[in-house]
Amino acid sequence: MKAHDGMYIGGEWRAAAGTDAIEVVDPANEQIIAHVPAGTAEDVDAAVRAARAALPAWVATAPAERAARIATLRDVLVARKGEIAATVTAELGAPLPFSQAVHAGVPILVAGSYAGLAASYAFEEKVGNSTVYAEPVGVVGAITPWNYPLHQIVAKVAPALAAGCTIVLKPAEDTPLTAQLFAEAVHEAGIPAGVFNLVTGLGPVAGQALAEHDGVDLVSFTGSTAVGKQIGATAGAAVKRVALELGGKSANVILPSADLAKAVGVGVANVMGNSGQTCSAWTRMLVHSSQYDEAVALAAEAAAKYGDRIGPLVNAKQHARVRGYIEQGVAEGARLVAGGPEAPREQGYFVSPTVFADVTPEMTIAQEEIFGPVVSLIRYEDEDDALRIANGTVYGLAGAVWAGDDAEAVAFARRMDTGQVDINGGRFNPLAPFGGYKQSGVGRELGSHGLAEYLQTKSLQF
Ligand code: NAD
Repeated sequence: MKAHDGMYIGGEWRAAAGTDAIEVVDPANEQIIAHVPAGTAEDVDAAVRAARAALPAWVATAPAERAARIATLRDVLVARKGEIAATVTAELGAPLPFSQAVHAGVPILVAGSYAGLAASYAFEEKVGNSTVYAEPVGVVGAITPWNYPLHQIVAKVAPALAAGCTIVLKPAEDTPLTAQLFAEAVHEAGIPAGVFNLVTGLGPVAGQALAEHDGVDLVSFTGSTAVGKQIGATAGAAVKRVALELGGKSANVILPSADLAKAVGVGVANVMGNSGQTCSAWTRMLVHSSQYDEAVALAAEAAAKYGDRIGPLVNAKQHARVRGYIEQGVAEGARLVAGGPEAPREQGYFVSPTVFADVTPEMTIAQEEIFGPVVSLIRYEDEDDALRIANGTVYGLAGAVWAGDDAEAVAFARRMDTGQVDINGGRFNPLAPFGGYKQSGVGRELGSHGLAEYLQTKSLQF
């Protein structure tokens, strides 16, 4: 696979300060496919300086012109869609059709949405005798994970560009090639030098240096809750803005009036997509006791059908972690009805689509984020019981409710402590705010709410 051996800083590929490298591995066959430089604090400092130097001119660029640049960036992503999908498949392992439709397709939608928002957003409003200006926060340090490698980059960079911010990105160490391809696209789109900068490297080295850098005004982080807490504490100590998109343990609540077969089928597919490596996946399926056995049979069948279409997990560590959770589920008394901890292939970090029945709300597999293709069916007795179970984790990122009519599902969804709920299989909306309640995060991404994260207000009184 093609890889740059430098950092994209100040509009050009520059040699890294150090000589350490990161191996990029294809998780489907465990082969090393490329190396990228492991950045140090020195690289981060150079990138932050470049972003700071580019800030005044980008702030002064009219929103319509910023919108035009983002639209061009979207067009470049469209033109390079095949290359993006192939790169994500190579380093993340997602099956190619999923990479094409989701990993390449969604960032194009999101970039397009911010081209529109940059042009139409009210950056100025009158409030009584005041004029309130929405001004860019400044230099953004963006730290992203590997599970939706391009989406998570675009969900930060596009609104930051629209707001008039400049950016330093530190992508996940498992998926740096997608990030390098994105930097090429930024360059091709004619975004001015220094407005976007890329430093590849390890989290505790380059990531931490970026989060701690005095020249960064806002840290926008997506990743695990453990690292998010650390970044939040660092930002708090420096009185620096912070946005955190963290883990989840979302509930798929199937009310008795729902179309059970559809709700279970869509629910299982939701967890298996991207091999279960989706922070908003509905990993807990809540079913009324009267329909429980039927739901278990339907879920086992759906998982078995999914079979070989599932990709591997991203790396050996995740592979061991997910299989460990499956073993723990068995040890705590849950009943395996599909899949299991055995690796289904000799090569690659594969785990079979796995379904657990007889899961109780307090079990580890019902409380902790597994980040693998594992769904747990939990029994409830009435709606209050379902709500207590749905809300009974430290997380609150997403969820689903199924009922005979939307109004019944909405009434339940309004009582859930979570940031996004799909009603009767509702579709993805790139303009809807995405983000967590409780320990799933702080702040929102996507749409105008996502843009507002990169703005600060100034009022002038007359
Ligand atoms: P992670 O927290 O280990 O890594 C995320 C990013 O943070 C990577 O770029 C990593 O290099 C960096 N990092 C690690 N340690 C750091 C440190 N000390 N200082 C600064 N940066 C550091 O998470 P992961 O394993 O890559 O991703 C999986 C997790 O991300 C899951 O828990 C998942 O739920 C969560 N996630 C959340 C969302 C969301 O939008 N809420 C989206 C995707 C993933």
